[in-house]
Amino acid sequence: MYARFHCTVCGRTCRVTLEDSVSHLECPHCEHRRTVPAGAFADGSIQRCIVCPSTELFFRKNFPQRLGAMIVVVGLAASCVTWYHHSLYGTYGILFATALMDLMLFLLMGNVVTCYRCRADYGGFASTRHKSFDLEVHERHRQEAARLNQ
Ligand SMILES: [Zn+2]
Ligand SMILES: [Zn+2]
Repeated sequence: MYARFHCTVCGRTCRVTLEDSVSHLECPHCEHRRTVPAGAFADGSIQRCIVCPSTELFFRKNFPQRLGAMIVVVGLAASCVTWYHHSLYGTYGILFATALMDLMLFLLMGNVVTCYRCRADYGGFASTRHKSFDLEVHERHRQEAARLNQ
C-alpha cells in the first residue's frame, strides 16, 4: 500500500509506503509528521484520508492518460501510412491493436482511492468499497475550498 500526497508544510509531492499498523505519516522531504486518524484502515482498505482527514474518498483507475493518448496517436499515424499504401487489412490490424493495447493498459493498472478534499492518492489496497467519482461531492468540496481561500 502507498500514499501519494502534497505535503501541506513544504508543498512537495510525497510518495510513502504504508503498513496496516502505521501510526504516523512522515513527509520524506521536510520530515513533518502527521498522526494517522483512528479508523483510517478497515476491511483491507482505507476509510479516511490520512492527510486532511476527510472521510469522502472516491475510487478510480490509475490509468496513465498521457501514455494511453500516445498509443492512440501512434496507432492513428501508423494506420494512415497503411491506408495510403492501400493496405486495408494492415489499417484495421493497427487500429485493432491500438484499441487492444489501451484496453490491456486499463486492465493492468491498479485501483486508486483519491481524497476529494486534498487530492491525496492511496493505492495498493486489497479491496476498495468506495464509490467512483461523484461530481456533486467534488463540486461541494471545490466550493468549500474556494470559500476558505477568500
Ligand atoms: Zn513536507
Ligand atoms: Zn484528504
